Amino acid sequence: MFYDEDKKMFYFTLTCYVCKKAYKAYEGSPSYQLAKKNRTKTYCCEDCNNKIRYEAIKNFFR
Ligand SMILES: [Zn+2]
Repeated sequence: MFYDEDKKMFYFTLTCYVCKKAYKAYEGSPSYQLAKKNRTKTYCCEDCNNKIRYEAIKNFFR
């Protein structure tokens, strides 16, 4: 766990399993909650999360 001096928040550095990019999960976010519980799980950044949700909605209305 790391501390962001600017945002005054704790965060984890996680790797998104979709785009393979490292991203910061700040406290209070769903990824942060997951990381706190289990660090070996796969994580998805917010961008990919939104994309997946958008695709799911698009398919639903097809
Ligand atoms: Zn991603």
